Amino acid sequence: MGLLSEGSPLSWEETKKLSPHVREHGIEQFIHLYARLRDRQGDVLKWGDEVEYMLVKFDDKNKTAKLSLRAQEVLDALNEKERLDPYGVKSLWRPEYSAYMVEGTPGKPFGGLLAHFNVVEANMRYRRQEVTNLLPPGETIVSITAFPRLGCPKFSHPEYKTRPDDPDSAAQSNYFPDEAIYAGHPRFKTLTRNIRQRRGEKVSIKLKVFKDENTKLPVEGSPPGEPDVVHMDAMGFGMGCCCLQVTFQACNINEARTLYDQLAPLCPIMLALTAASPVHRGYLTESDCRWNVISASVDCRTPGERGEAPLKPGEIRIPKSRYDSIDSYLSEAGKDYNDIPLIYDEAIYNRLLKGGIDPLLAQHVAHLFIRDSVSLFSEKVHQNDEEDTDHFENIQSTNWQTMRFKPPPPNSSIGWRVEFRPCELQITDFENAAIVCFVVLLTRVILSYQLNFLIPISKVDENMHKAQKRNACQSELFWFRKDVRDKEACDCANGKDSDKKQNECKKMECEYELMTVDQIINGKETFPGLVPLIHSYLASMDVDTDTHCTIQQYLRFIQKRASGEILTMASWIRKEVVNHPEYKKDSIVTERINYDLLKKIKDIEEGAPCPELLGSANKTKTQDNIPSAIVKHLTNGACS
Ligand code: ADP
Ligand code: MG
Ligand code: MG
Repeated sequence: MGLLSEGSPLSWEETKKLSPHVREHGIEQFIHLYARLRDRQGDVLKWGDEVEYMLVKFDDKNKTAKLSLRAQEVLDALNEKERLDPYGVKSLWRPEYSAYMVEGTPGKPFGGLLAHFNVVEANMRYRRQEVTNLLPPGETIVSITAFPRLGCPKFSHPEYKTRPDDPDSAAQSNYFPDEAIYAGHPRFKTLTRNIRQRRGEKVSIKLKVFKDENTKLPVEGSPPGEPDVVHMDAMGFGMGCCCLQVTFQACNINEARTLYDQLAPLCPIMLALTAASPVHRGYLTESDCRWNVISASVDCRTPGERGEAPLKPGEIRIPKSRYDSIDSYLSEAGKDYNDIPLIYDEAIYNRLLKGGIDPLLAQHVAHLFIRDSVSLFSEKVHQNDEEDTDHFENIQSTNWQTMRFKPPPPNSSIGWRVEFRPCELQITDFENAAIVCFVVLLTRVILSYQLNFLIPISKVDENMHKAQKRNACQSELFWFRKDVRDKEACDCANGKDSDKKQNECKKMECEYELMTVDQIINGKETFPGLVPLIHSYLASMDVDTDTHCTIQQYLRFIQKRASGEILTMASWIRKEVVNHPEYKKDSIVTERINYDLLKKIKDIEEGAPCPELLGSANKTKTQDNIPSAIVKHLTNGACS
């Protein structure tokens, strides 16, 4: 996240009372910012990744690996450099939810040169080294999505007791102590407490256990009547996961809306391809991904809103958590594919329309604004709606969706941006850089060839659920558009139907079909495949040899993950666990298995070969600086 605003957090009761105020002024702020910035043109491609890391402490004598709760100390040291030289640093460091997490981004966004693809891995390596330099012996950082034994007894260093019955505890968790929440800024504990209080009870995260030969049911801590469920009860289980995000700047608002829409159907595909988190609270589960865990970990809806109890006065049914897949497309082309009912307050929607905002964008914003503020600071209550955007950001930044549409910040040179948020984090800088570059290249191909990936948004939702299943990357079929190069035509025989409405509907149905991740990425007889499309885009570009080699390695890696030639990290972790000599076929990831797994992860990250996960190439000759001879620019869409 960006810089956190400082101040004193209000209690849930106070926040709740002020929620209509935040909504009302947030909407006014959006109307003002839109009027100011809607016509902003000519921004160039810039992009940047965000990587979250976990601090891990090894005890080689006792063979344990624990999460080290020292993020604040480490961040203090990391931020000192930025304070001294804000524009000169090669990396920026920010706190994240947990006291064992740090988030690193490049010091400046990368730009529109192809050669930037040859810098991102080196920058990731630099970031890792920068933190590593600050750590005492025995401590290290890892880039993994979920710590396998998070929430198990003694998972942290230092150890803390949970306080489920303490009214002053933020999480009141049976497993996740408040001390594991980042304490350097009040936002995180406040969110934890307010989400729990708004919901009226602790959050409840349920994953089916992976049933092995000797798995003992009921699973320890499972809810009554659900013996095969691994249960988790705190925001930290979700927000304490790490992920990989990419943000792009578009040349104008329309290009941003197009990218937002076109990338949305790719979210589940990229989630399946990057799946990296099969173990939660010490158990192998039936899920390969973090997504539903986080979704449930911040689900602040009341039982009535969730549809599990009669509605109370003032409540409405809300189908999804505030952390979920997007609910509507934003571009004109996307409009026809918005097939799930959007919940919003008519008055807010009408206010936005009156404020000059078109229906598609108005319904998007109004839909974000069905949520209450869950974190409000006393200093921020009263604002100047013509200039400030804090109330808008308050709601926007606590809608954690697969895609985020980001307006330019006030008084900055930054343009309209889109953030791609589904990907899970991988062990090596090579893998993470490959994923980031692949996604950025896809955006260029989408804009250059005006590709169309749209399918009904309900189908994207279906794909999100499939994407998280065990081994989805190899065994699931995903809805995907058949002809991504053709916007209009559909040779469907039903196209001649006389009833227009029915016609449209059938036409749409014949636009998509079920495909494997392999087919989507690598192509098949009737579908070109995303990597081949990128290849043909690149064929027309001048590129220096080193960058060319790097990109080729990245694309090959993506292709191999998709085809199953190499394993996803989730499958690899499963394999490591079940083949561990201490594993008793009981789904349990013991202290020792956890230790050996993390040691291996560390070795691989440092260069130990692991062909089944990485193939042969797992490091590129990336560089810190771009050779001056390289001038070829990547395409911006409408503005290029
Ligand atoms: P978030 O709100 O998602 O936490 P951050 O402020 O952490 O966003 O930034 C996300 C990414 O956006 C970083 O990688 C950063 O380098 C990149 N970024 C910064 N400025 C721009 C820009 N003008 N266009 C595109 N990306 C940018
Ligand atoms: Mg961030
Ligand atoms: Mg982000």
